[in-house]
Amino acid sequence: PRTLEARALHRTYGTRESTTTALAGVDLTLAAGSSLAVTGPSGSGKTTLLHLLAGVLAPTSGEVVWDGRPLSTMRDRERTALRRTAFGFVFQQGQLLPELPAQENVALPLLLAGRSRSEAVGRARQWLTHLGLAGMEARRPGELSGGQAQRVAIARALVGAPGVIFADEPTGALDRGTGWEVMRALTTAARAQGAALVVVTHDPEVARWCSRTVEMRDGRIVRELAQVAS
Ligand code: ADP
Ligand code: ADP
Repeated sequence: PRTLEARALHRTYGTRESTTTALAGVDLTLAAGSSLAVTGPSGSGKTTLLHLLAGVLAPTSGEVVWDGRPLSTMRDRERTALRRTAFGFVFQQGQLLPELPAQENVALPLLLAGRSRSEAVGRARQWLTHLGLAGMEARRPGELSGGQAQRVAIARALVGAPGVIFADEPTGALDRGTGWEVMRALTTAARAQGAALVVVTHDPEVARWCSRTVEMRDGRIVRELAQVAS
């Protein structure tokens, strides 16, 4: 099965005169179907780690390996293609196109990848139904609640059958109850797809939905916690 690995990841920002070490040696293995929460205080390196794992940002040293292939050995174009096909992304909010109905928002990645309209729309409708949004296909993001909009975003992240879903504070704009629903939808959908899930969150209640939690501080993993299966 496909695995995402981080090996001795270091990342610094800045110039020769003034540098910040954002990551100071992170190792991780993420198997298909597993879920990982990355927690820790602001500035501890969570976002940097997510961007390195997703191939959006290059490490200063160390390596990210997807499915046996180091990302550093790929050309920019291959890495971009990987992000579009093998990875799905869910952000805090605002990632849906406001003028498009939910169904079109979800179908868009498949249409951009050159799939037929009937296939794209069919799969979009399936994921919307799977996420409890049957009957809402024609609504625009502004006509949905915050939690419904996040579930549309989850459907869009999953529609291309990715191997990994990256979620950056996916409940950050929601109240507690709605956040709970969104995390249940996200973890269930990722598992149904067989995708690995990485969730960056500062909220321990959100982290509890994942099978494993790593806590970061000053660019390192300082604690790792395995969740008891519920
Ligand atoms: P977190 O997501 O946990 O808040 P970040 O990964 O955003 O942590 O940041 C880790 C460290 O790197 C912090 O000290 C932050 O100020 C610094 N940092 C992040 N991005 C940049 C950047 N683009 N330029 C300079 N420093 C940065
Ligand atoms: P583009 O904007 O063309 O999509 P990328 O975001 O893929 O470019 O990459 C930005 C820069 O970081 C490029 O110079 C790329 O080579 C480099 N880069 C990104 N991710 C990695 C990685 N995991 N390992 C090595 N280099 C990387």
